[in-house]
Amino acid sequence: MKISKLQFNNYDFLGSKVGQNKKNAPQSGFALPLVDYADGRKFVSLYKKQDGKKPLFQGMNCSTGHFELKKIVDLECSCCGQKMIPLDVVKELSAKTEHKKGEELAHRMKIMKKYFRPIEQEVALDIADYARNHPDLSISQIVKELNAENIENLETQQKLVMDEIRETIAKFPKNDQGKLFNFVDKSENLIELKNDEKFFKRKKFIWALKQLLETIEDTPLKDELIQIAQALPNSESSASAFYAKYSRRGNNEIVRRLLTPAIATAEHIKPRSLGGLDNTANYIAECGTCNSTRSSMPYNEWFKQMPEMPENLQDYINNIAPRIARGDYPGYETYIDDIIESIKEETKGKLILKNPLKEQN
Ligand SMILES: [Zn+2]
Repeated sequence: MKISKLQFNNYDFLGSKVGQNKKNAPQSGFALPLVDYADGRKFVSLYKKQDGKKPLFQGMNCSTGHFELKKIVDLECSCCGQKMIPLDVVKELSAKTEHKKGEELAHRMKIMKKYFRPIEQEVALDIADYARNHPDLSISQIVKELNAENIENLETQQKLVMDEIRETIAKFPKNDQGKLFNFVDKSENLIELKNDEKFFKRKKFIWALKQLLETIEDTPLKDELIQIAQALPNSESSASAFYAKYSRRGNNEIVRRLLTPAIATAEHIKPRSLGGLDNTANYIAECGTCNSTRSSMPYNEWFKQMPEMPENLQDYINNIAPRIARGDYPGYETYIDDIIESIKEETKGKLILKNPLKEQN
């Protein structure tokens, strides 16, 4: 099948001529020959023939920023099933919260609870309690005080990991151990220092450790060591690390950070790095946490790691399908069938979801 620009322009796109309805029209990239795409097969699947005559438009070229379905308030993540929040609403909620103190601040934390992930919930509870007992303090002052209270705790968590790192270093060839131990000694000094200018940073530590390991002969112990180092507490895995990181930040940034893991994102079913397109047929709304955890893992592997995903995906489809059917999202008419097809393809037929608005055979 060959699609020329002329045919494209004449094509009656879901009831309205392309060009007449700019908002629903696919973006310009679509009108160009798509030969540049690495995956030639996708070119065909975007234009499916119907009755052997007219091509049926499938999916819509669209940047992740323009994916409309991630703007639905309280939509559940297609992967973990937790409630998500559109970016605009994060800004609104942060603005409503940042200047609150005392009981009002505690109340704001309660209202936003449904969006918090476990660590954020723990932090929000601490903030609420502290605010009730210290009604004059702003969020940033509270986080600073919580940091002072929790810093010893963080040190203990960090040192536990450092102990494990030392145990693994002891298994390295003798002549490599010296510089590795030396590096860990220096890092532990930083942990103990807790000075305002010099303090231990997890990311920096892991980066430097990787650099150091580059200078050492290959052994599977290297990967083991990095894996252990990844377990060092960070603001996503430890409330104490959260306080340490955000003890010097402003009110607004802290509130936003609490909501960030729940921000709805457009996730590529087939990762871009593996040739996936910026097309609605390749997008599902997923929370920031799932999106960053998955990174560019192929869907086929990702869904094996998330046993609850098939059910959450079906819930996502069941939730979205009636909204599209009642005309809330013009241009998304084929969306449900498109993603069912994309997911089936990406999981090599292992995950077959149902369109609730279609009779199943
Ligand atoms: Zn999620």
